[in-house]
Amino acid sequence: MHETMVAESILRAITEQAEKVGTRPISAVISCGQFNTLNDEIMRFAFETAAAGTVCEGMRLKIRHIPLRAACRKCNTVFEFDVYKPNCTQCGSQESQIQPDAPLLLEEIEFEEPQ
Ligand SMILES: [Zn+2]
Repeated sequence: MHETMVAESILRAITEQAEKVGTRPISAVISCGQFNTLNDEIMRFAFETAAAGTVCEGMRLKIRHIPLRAACRKCNTVFEFDVYKPNCTQCGSQESQIQPDAPLLLEEIEFEEPQ
């Protein structure tokens, strides 16, 4: 499952950071696009499972979903692309270019204050 692999690689990245700063991580924010999207529930469960017994146990995970964007070929407006309503939000044109999907990213980690 996609989420399990993502959870394990995120856990590894957070653990490395935690070792560097020497405190426990409290929460983390990850973001994903629409083609590599994550199911929030499955992702949280996969992360909890992977984090059990590690320094990351009990930390909160926030998942941001980045919408797909398109650039209008007529007026160059970049807008959130909706497959059910693919018109440019500025001029209404249907001629647009889908922008690259947002990558899966570990955006930030919040750590405990050092004692
Ligand atoms: Zn337009």
